[in-house]
Amino acid sequence: MADAAPTYDVVIIGGGPGGYNAAIRAGQLGLKAACVEMRDTLGGTCLNVGCMPSKALLHASELFEIAGHEFPTLGIKVGKPELDLGQMMQQKTDSVTALTKGIEFLFKKNKVDWLKGRGRIAGPGQVEVEAADGAKTTYQAKNIIIATGSEPTPLPGVDFVDGKVIDSTGALSLDKVPGKLIVIGAGVIGLELGSVWRRLGAEVTVIEYLDAVGAGMDGEVATAFQRGLAKQGMSFRMGTKVTGAKVDDAGVELTVEPAAGGAAETVRGDVVLVAIGRRPYTAGLGLETVGIETDKRGFIANDHLKTGKDGVWVIGDVTHGPMLAHKAEEDAVAAVETIAGKAGHVDYDLVPSVIYTSPEVAWVGKTEEQLKAAGVAFKKGKFPFAANSRAKINHETDGFVKVLADAATDRVLGVHIYGPQAGEMISEATVTMAFGGASEDIARTCHPHPTRSEAVRQAAMGVEGWTMQS
Ligand code: FAD
Ligand code: NAD
Repeated sequence: MADAAPTYDVVIIGGGPGGYNAAIRAGQLGLKAACVEMRDTLGGTCLNVGCMPSKALLHASELFEIAGHEFPTLGIKVGKPELDLGQMMQQKTDSVTALTKGIEFLFKKNKVDWLKGRGRIAGPGQVEVEAADGAKTTYQAKNIIIATGSEPTPLPGVDFVDGKVIDSTGALSLDKVPGKLIVIGAGVIGLELGSVWRRLGAEVTVIEYLDAVGAGMDGEVATAFQRGLAKQGMSFRMGTKVTGAKVDDAGVELTVEPAAGGAAETVRGDVVLVAIGRRPYTAGLGLETVGIETDKRGFIANDHLKTGKDGVWVIGDVTHGPMLAHKAEEDAVAAVETIAGKAGHVDYDLVPSVIYTSPEVAWVGKTEEQLKAAGVAFKKGKFPFAANSRAKINHETDGFVKVLADAATDRVLGVHIYGPQAGEMISEATVTMAFGGASEDIARTCHPHPTRSEAVRQAAMGVEGWTMQS
């Protein structure tokens, strides 16, 4: 006899930033909601093996580097810092555990049921959950939200081998610092995790197919960013593709060749991190039971987060748009609010990007290259951190702020920051743009002194040619 399982207004498959935020918002709006998650903890890629553990290691490794290299010039004598990698990893794990428990608390607070196990759509309005012991229960759902996220993209010819050829998850839990780390892909993961291990003592070489780092960031920023990372000791082989890997006792031998064609050669490393992007995850999801097809790259398409099949929605990494936790959260709120009869909406032009290196890179809106390609006339204001008093006092003078505004209306079209705390400062630009603001709005707004945010104001002044402090 079938289980008398409850009927839900919304069942969300996946408990990452897309899924857990959808579940919480549904609970807040009085919808009867459940979230299916097959991991032992909630939080998805972001909390378990993504944003949060990587930021824990970025923070700790940055302090390690500062203690070793900057303390003496600041007049602080503590001797040569020693790495306790086990403790560094433990504090990361403790923070992650606290965060994932926090989501469990928020589920309880908002009356969301966590259905533990692997979820599968079993037909219109039905989600089957298979628990770890193999028991299956089918739940009725007026709405199903697919939030199954993504997984690392493998590189053909370079198979993963535990501890030697690794993905980002492996790079977050190495038990010793590799002598020589080769990173394939100069995107966000490669540059963040490459920075972690370089700071902890590895010799890091990044191999990138394209001629620029940063997977599509503004070209002027990418050039400065790469120069900054090289100055810190990271090596780059740009315009290069990896065609194969051989693992032996001594490490890994990669075969590389110029992306444009040319002679192959080999490069050796102790550990290779493959960070060439992520792909949507839909394995075993039962999409065929409701007639949903994925596109060539495996994504589920959406129109205002609807899949086109009655009552089935899709959010986060598994659908189109930037693969970012805060984009998944935006999708989640919009989908649930639409389900609840409100006006859900996401402005994908206003999803900021941040790379949490030191200094950070952050941007929102269009790059110069995009504006030129679209034939949009724009004005540009730029201000270096070398002329910002707070950055100078803190010995953090690398980088600049760039504000791009419409030549006719002065509306802000893009803001690009390469510099200290860029990730915190970008929200000023995002809010300005969300209100359709002009560069003059930033330029004529009082900013506190001495702060790095004054560099944003000075760059905005530069759009009309009246930067005062450089
Ligand atoms: P996910 O977080 O991938 O969650 C999907 C969940 O669904 C998973 O927990 C999975 O177990 C579960 N699931 C899948 N299928 C099923 C099923 N059939 N049944 C039950 N459960 C299922 N983004 C940022 O914005 N900032 C950062 O600093 C950042 N850093 C990152 C660092 C790294 C190393 C990585 C790998 C990613 C990082 N990201 C960052 C990206 C971010 O993690 C993702 O964009 C985000 O997690 C996507 O959220 P999601 O909810 O769509 O999917
Ligand atoms: P990415 O798309 O940021 O970068 C991948 C890089 O690999 C690109 O520069 C690409 O040109 C290069 N590449 C692709 N194939 C290659 C090949 N065969 N040989 C050499 N280079 C190759 O992808 P990622 O760094 O793996 O990150 C995946 C996703 O996770 C991204 O979408 C990112 O948004 C997200 N993420 C975000 C953050 C953050 O917000 N701070 C941090 C980590 C990850």
